[in-house]
Formats: sequence, C-alpha cells, structure tokens
Amino acid sequence: MKKNLIYLFLDQLSFEVSSLKRMNKSTDIVMMCELDEQMCQVPHHQQKIAYWLSTMRHFAEKLRMAGIQVHYVALEDADNTHTITGELLRAKALFSPDAIIIADSSEWHWQEKINQLIKNHSLPVEWLSDDRFFCEKSEFFSWAKGKKKLLMEYFYREMRKKHRILVDEKGKPVGGEWNYDKQNRQPPKSTISSPPRLSHKKSTIIKESIALVKKRYNHHFGHLNRFYYAVTSEQAMLELNHFIEKLLPHFGEYQDIMQYNEAYLYHSLLSSYINSGLLLPRQVCAAAVKAFQQGKIPLNSAEGFIRQILGWREYIRGIYWMYMPQYAASNTLHATRALPAFYWSGKTQMRCLSNVVQQTMDHAYSHHIQRLMVTGNFALLSGINVNAVHEWYLAVYADAYEWVEMPNTIGMALFADGGIVASKPYAASGAYIQRMSNFCKGCAFNVKEAIGEKACPFNSLYWSFLNRHRSLFQVNPRMTYMYATWDKFSTEKQTAILNKAQYYLQLLEKNKL
Ligand code: FAD
Ligand code: SF4
Repeated sequence: MKKNLIYLFLDQLSFEVSSLKRMNKSTDIVMMCELDEQMCQVPHHQQKIAYWLSTMRHFAEKLRMAGIQVHYVALEDADNTHTITGELLRAKALFSPDAIIIADSSEWHWQEKINQLIKNHSLPVEWLSDDRFFCEKSEFFSWAKGKKKLLMEYFYREMRKKHRILVDEKGKPVGGEWNYDKQNRQPPKSTISSPPRLSHKKSTIIKESIALVKKRYNHHFGHLNRFYYAVTSEQAMLELNHFIEKLLPHFGEYQDIMQYNEAYLYHSLLSSYINSGLLLPRQVCAAAVKAFQQGKIPLNSAEGFIRQILGWREYIRGIYWMYMPQYAASNTLHATRALPAFYWSGKTQMRCLSNVVQQTMDHAYSHHIQRLMVTGNFALLSGINVNAVHEWYLAVYADAYEWVEMPNTIGMALFADGGIVASKPYAASGAYIQRMSNFCKGCAFNVKEAIGEKACPFNSLYWSFLNRHRSLFQVNPRMTYMYATWDKFSTEKQTAILNKAQYYLQLLEKNKL
C-alpha cells in the first residue's frame, strides 16, 4: 500500500486543507516543522511566534487524537536543521514516502524552495490547490486577462454572483447596491471605546510556547506581557460568534475610526485565525450572511464585512500570485529613505504614530486604517524604503504572511507597484487623521498648521510628496483638485511648506521627530 507524507505549513491548520482531505489515515504521515528559517525571516513579533507554536502544537495534538501519525519537528529537537529543505530531505530519508503531498504554499518563497528540491533531489512532491480560498489562482488570472485596470470592486461583484452571497435569484445585489460604503466609514461623533473581548484559558501548550519564545526570541519586536489569542478552531469559532453577535452590527459605521489607546474598536480580529486555517473564509462569510438574514445586523455592516473577505482578501491573493516574484522589487516612487527607528520603538512626538506603534507592540495588531493611514501614509509621504517598510509590516502583525501583507504594503499603502492595487496613492495630510481620530488633541504638533514652529509634519510632507511626484499624479483625475489647491498657494507659501518638509525629513534622519 502507498505511504504518503503530507507536509503542512503553519498556516494550513485545518482538516479542510486539500492535502489533509486526501489523506489515508492508516498509511499516511503528517509532517509539521518549527523552523528558525521561518521564525527569524524577519524579527516577527514575540506574540506572533507564540501564536504559531501554540496553534501548531494544538493542531498536532488534535491530529494524534484522531489516530493520525504525526512527524513533528520541534524547535529544540537536536536534529532539527531549521530549514524546510533540510527537513524535507531528512523526512525523505527517514520514511521513504511514495509521495510528499503539499497544499499550495501561501507564500512564493516556500514554493520556490520546494520546487528547487524537486528539481535537484527528485523529491516526489505532489502539489494540490489550496481550496480554502473562494477563488482559484487560475480563475483570478483568467478574470484579470486583458483588463487594463484590475479593479477590486468588479472582481468582488463576480465573486458575489458566483458564490451567491448577498444576491437575489437573478444575481442582483440584495438591497439594490453592490457597495454600502456611503453609510460606512463615518467620522466619530463622540469618543468610542472598544467593547469587551473574549479571553481564553492559557493551556500548558500556550505556557510552554510563551516560555520558549522568551528564551529564544526575546530580542524580537513586541513583548509577551499579554497573550489573548484563540489557538484552536473551537476557540476561534467562539471569537467569530462573539464578533457576529456583539460587534458586527456596528462594524460598518465605525470601520474607519481611530481612537487613542483603542486598538480594536469594532473590528473582528479574525485575520490571524482565517490566515492560519483555524477559520475558513467561507465559514466566516456564511455566519455574517446568516446574521443579516435573521435581521440581527444591518445590510451595510454585513456587506462591508463580507467585501473585506470575499473581495479584498481574495483579490490581494490574486495580485500576489499574478505578479510575484517581480512584485517584491517594485519601487515606482523611488523611495529609499531608511525606516525611522520609531517604527520599532514608538518613540516619536507624533502622537498618532507613537500610539499606533505602541498598540502594535502591545497587541501585534492594529486595524486597517491605522496600518494604511498612519504608519503606511507616513512611510509613503516620507519616501521610506519600500523593502524596509514591507519587512516591518511582515514582522509586527500576528496576521502577517507575505501573500497578504506585501500587496497591501507595496500596492495599497506605498503605491510602489505603480497603481496595480490602488487607483491613486492613499496620501493624506493631518486633516484626515484629525477627522477620523482623537489623536491630534494632546499632540505636540498642531494639525491646523503646515509651516509654523509646531506644524503637524503630515501637512508639509503631504504637499511635498504631491509636488515631488507631480509628473506622475497630476494626470490622475482623482488628484486634480489637490494640485489645483497647491497651485493656488503663493510661491512664498509653497517654498515655506517645502522647506518645512525638508526640515522634518532631516529631523527624521537624526531620529529627532
Ligand atoms: P476586519 O477589519 O475585521 O476585517 C475583516 C477581515 O477582512 C479581516 O480579518 C481580513 O481577513 C479581511 N481583510 C480586510 N481588509 C483586507 C485587506 N486589505 N487585505 C486582505 N484581507 C483583508 N491583512 C492580513 O491579513 N495580513 C497582513 O499581513 C496585512 N497587512 C497589511 C498591511 C497594510 C499596509 C495594510 C494597509 C493592510 C494590511 N492587511 C493585512 C489588511 C487589513 O489591515 C487586515 O486584514 C485587518 O486589519 C485585520 O484585522 P481584522 O481581522 O480585525 O479585520
Ligand atoms: Fe498626528 Fe499631526 Fe495629529 Fe500629531 S497633529 S496626531 S502628528 S496628525
């Protein structure tokens, strides 16, 4: 009888992964590895590594309980080579499997390494498509073929129709509109706090994982003073139910709001669970549809939430696989400045940035608008080195895997892909941050000023960014208004703004901003 080895990546922790669905329980062996190659690719947040170790170890236990043979290579095993190449070759020698079955790796570089092994060592690998996603890679490529612009909105409508999510029997959108963003994304009317979140009992596995991270990776970003994550699919399901019941009703209206010292607000915090396999995207969307059909949540919240998963998440994955590996080297705006030290420490006088980085250190999380319009926006305006920003985002968030982080950073936040993901740069002055948050009250800088002594750095940097990239952006109809505003400024004012931006960039280089 054939004996196969099933290799599971650390983001494939689900019985629904195609490789496990193919398993013959009586003969096959499941292989999982804890590798320094992965833990140390970038200085991943300590909570993220503890999450990885805890979820993998719990899942391996679940496999064993189900009578499945598991070859588990732990971090501290004496013969762990700490590379995927080394471990697959070792496993081949140990078990002489007929085939090594692997569901598509989510990240390009793992696939590349394994393909090299197949070529150089005749490793008998059989790749399977990862059908946890709504959209097959080939399906995305067909959708994209021949299109000048790959607009997420149109891709999303196709997905809604194909998977019959929030559409009527004629394929028309429920409620008459595809997108209810007009009702979402409102500025805060008053101070908003995050509602209570679930906490989960710390299992022995979690405690051991935390101790291991403290021992091996305490020089990595963040800290382990707290660890609140769900680490099994059952716990992740509790998180999903809690979100649907208590938070989703307000998700839409509060989606873009930022509040000082409030990391979560009404966001789901489900990305880590969906990305690692504890929850399936289908399961999450189905739960939101059901709550809407039962009249528990308004359409704008249900649609807004589903769009993030069925639309953005699938679209971003399609972009990654369509453009890798060249995508990683994109730098359309020639951004080369060093990443400021405060991205790692939170030590800056800019209250918005200091608070978002501090929250990231505390939670390995910040919500989309904090990522896009605070840390991302500042990096865009200041022309920070694209690869350094990409590595930072990959390191600091518990949900960060290259396939989803990279197009969001390089494409959406930095416009480094020249407009594949975003139709215009998400560049904004301090006025946006002031409108959508309470960060500016209490900041050392004055958000109303662009050139005064205490002028908000986002303001001069914003105009300087537009001025610097005029030849590229002035032809964009969505940016005409901004250039018209700049052109109305007197030459003296323009010069003063550009000088102020230069002054702030010099302070940035000296780590004094
Ligand atoms: P919610 O706000 O509750 O949204 C619900 C779900 O929608 C998320 O759990 C996620 O699965 C999905 N989603 C929402 N927006 C996106 C998006 N733009 N791309 C893909 N999925 C999306 N998301 C990651 O999962 N991993 C990353 O490494 C990552 N890096 C990012 C880097 C930058 C610069 C930016 C601007 C965004 C990034 N995102 C990333 C997207 C988004 O910010 C996170 O998915 C979201 O903040 C996760 O929090 P949540 O689960 O509370 O999301
Ligand atoms: Fe951020 Fe400027 Fe507001 Fe300060 S004033 S919090 S730097 S936007």
